[in-house]
Amino acid sequence: MERIYDTIIIGAGPAGASAAIYASRARLSALWLDNRLIPGGQIADSGRVDNYPGLPGISGADMGEAFAEHAKKLGMEPVREEVKEIRVTGASAEGAPVAGRGPAKPLFLVTTSKGQYQAYTVIYAAGAAHRHLGIPGEEELSGAGVSYCATCDGAFYRDLETAVVGGGNTACEDALFLSRVCSKVYLIHRRDQLRADAVLQDLVKKCENIEILWNTVPDSVEGEEEGEVTGLAVRNVADGEIRTLPVPGIFIAAGMIPNTELVKDLVQTDDGGYIIADETGRTSCPGFFAAGDIRTKTLRQVVTAVSDGANAVNSVQTYLLI
Ligand code: NAP
Repeated sequence: MERIYDTIIIGAGPAGASAAIYASRARLSALWLDNRLIPGGQIADSGRVDNYPGLPGISGADMGEAFAEHAKKLGMEPVREEVKEIRVTGASAEGAPVAGRGPAKPLFLVTTSKGQYQAYTVIYAAGAAHRHLGIPGEEELSGAGVSYCATCDGAFYRDLETAVVGGGNTACEDALFLSRVCSKVYLIHRRDQLRADAVLQDLVKKCENIEILWNTVPDSVEGEEEGEVTGLAVRNVADGEIRTLPVPGIFIAAGMIPNTELVKDLVQTDDGGYIIADETGRTSCPGFFAAGDIRTKTLRQVVTAVSDGANAVNSVQTYLLI
C-alpha cells in the first residue's frame, strides 16, 4: 500500500467517467473504483437520451459504453471493487511535500472489498439509488412484478396492463416506453401536476393508452405469497376512493436517493442527504470533492454530471498545488 495516488475517483457514471478522462489528460495518478459491471451508472438504465448535445436519441446503455470506451482509450478503466470505508488519516510522513504537489496534505484511506488504497484527494461520484416506496408487498415482490427499471423489465409485460408510480421525467419516460409494449399503462401520481419536463408531459397526456391517476398514492402491492404481483392497491387522496388495479407489473419511478451513507460522517450533507458542494466540487472536507448527482444542485442531468467531473479534476489540481 506504499503507493499514494493523486486522486481516487469513486463511481463510473457520467461524472466519474468524465473525471477519469480529465484526470488522465492532466497526467494525475488516479485510481478509478466502481463495482457495477455495466458502465454508465444510472444512465445505463435509460432507454433513450435526447438532450445530450451531439448524441440525439442515444440509448443510455450505449452512452455509458461510449464514456467507458473513451476513458479506456486514455488508459483509464474502473477497478471493480466495492468501497467499504473512506477515512482521513491526517497529514503524515507519506503525505509530506512531493515535487509539484505543494505542501503536505492529509491522506485518504479507501478500504474496498479487496484492499486498501491511499490518495491525496477523492472525487466522489457515487450517484444515487432508486427510492423505494416502503409499502407492504414492495420488497417481497421486487423482481416478481415490482421493478425500478422499465427499459430493463418492460418487455415482460407485452400486451398486458402495467402501472408506473411517480410524476417526474423518469416516470413519464417509463410510461411512454411501456405504452409501446403494454396494452395500457396507469401513471399514478400523488399530486394534480406532473413534475416532468413540459415536452414529456405533453407526450404522456396525448398518449391514448396512458391513463393518469391524479392525486393517487399506492397503498400496497398485492400478490401471491412467494408468487407474482397480481395488483396494486391505490388510494385517491382527494376523495378517499380506494381501488385495486389488476396489474401484473408495477414500475416505481419515485426519484433517487444519494449514495452518501458511506461519507455522512466525513462531509456535510443537506436534508436530502446530498453532499453540500458547488460546481467546483469542494466539500466541507478539504481534498474530498463531490461530482454528479451526489451533490447539491438544481439540475441533475448527464450534461451537468460530466461538467462536474471535469470541474472536480480542475479543483483537485488546484488543491494539490497550493
Ligand atoms: P424526480 O424528478 O425526483 O421525480 C420523482 C417523482 O416521484 C416525483 O413526481 C415525486 O412526486 C414522486 N415521488 C417521490 N416519492 C414518492 C412516494 N413516496 N410516493 C409516490 N410518489 C413519490 O425523479 P426522476 O424522475 O427519477 O428524475 C431524477 C432526475 O433525473 C431529475 O433531475 C430528472 O430531470 C432527471 N432525469 C432526466 C431525464 C431526461 O432528461 N431524459 C430522464 C430521467 C431523469 P412529487 O412530484 O409530488 O414530488
